[in-house]
Amino acid sequence: MMGASVRNTDVSTFQKGIREAFKDAFDLILPYRCAICGNASDTEDRFTGYNRLYKDIYGVDPELHICGKCLSSFNILEEDKRWSLCLSDPRENDACPGLALYMPFTYQGIAGRAVPRIKFGKKKELARFLGCLLGSCIYGEDIRADLMVPVPLSPERLAERGFNQAEEIAYPASRLNDIPFADDLLTRIKDTKRQSELRDNTVRSKNVAGAFGVSGLWDVTGMTIVIVDDVVTTGATLHEAAEALYKAGASKVLCIAFAGNRYIKNAEPF
Ligand SMILES: [Zn+2]
Repeated sequence: MMGASVRNTDVSTFQKGIREAFKDAFDLILPYRCAICGNASDTEDRFTGYNRLYKDIYGVDPELHICGKCLSSFNILEEDKRWSLCLSDPRENDACPGLALYMPFTYQGIAGRAVPRIKFGKKKELARFLGCLLGSCIYGEDIRADLMVPVPLSPERLAERGFNQAEEIAYPASRLNDIPFADDLLTRIKDTKRQSELRDNTVRSKNVAGAFGVSGLWDVTGMTIVIVDDVVTTGATLHEAAEALYKAGASKVLCIAFAGNRYIKNAEPF
């Protein structure tokens, strides 16, 4: 039995080597494909700055290509439209009224195509790219915070997808802004339905009510904390996560999402 298992390992290493060699050969003859639209990428020279940044953060080169057409179509909001109120439907007796949300992209066009590609194409690299974009937008805002935390996925969904896209977006954004990162602070204490499957705002709020807890490993008393998610629709998920942080003693919570599909004026973030 011992011999058989050693032989199996040898075979799989050998096959892996062959596969790598073929991949290298194909890379020489096939054009790079855009991670968003799938067309041939024509922007290798424009990625040198990003490659350097990625290597600083992760210690390896990125495996990502985005074509010029997609790159130039990210529809960034005007600076004065990026801050809004987190809840699209403010509640009576809201535990954290006036919760501010920063959201630099509209969830349309390329941003609207890119985010689903992360989830359903399992493209962690694309999430990290969006995180770097988000991070450079936040940089201009001069946000000072004690911690940046991603909205957690349920263990079931994490196992299904293999990674949490909110975490992959939040981590480079935290590094670019020198804000300490904590991926184990917020926890899912209740499994919820996908918000995107629910149409009604009240139903969405009820779905995520009590969904989040704060890990006993952390004492957040008096802290300013930034929560990051990929996409915001009604704002109910981020609002619920913020409520959990306030209950645990945080003194200020700000919400950030890469993209969203609504805009509410008059937020006062600071
Ligand atoms: Zn493209």
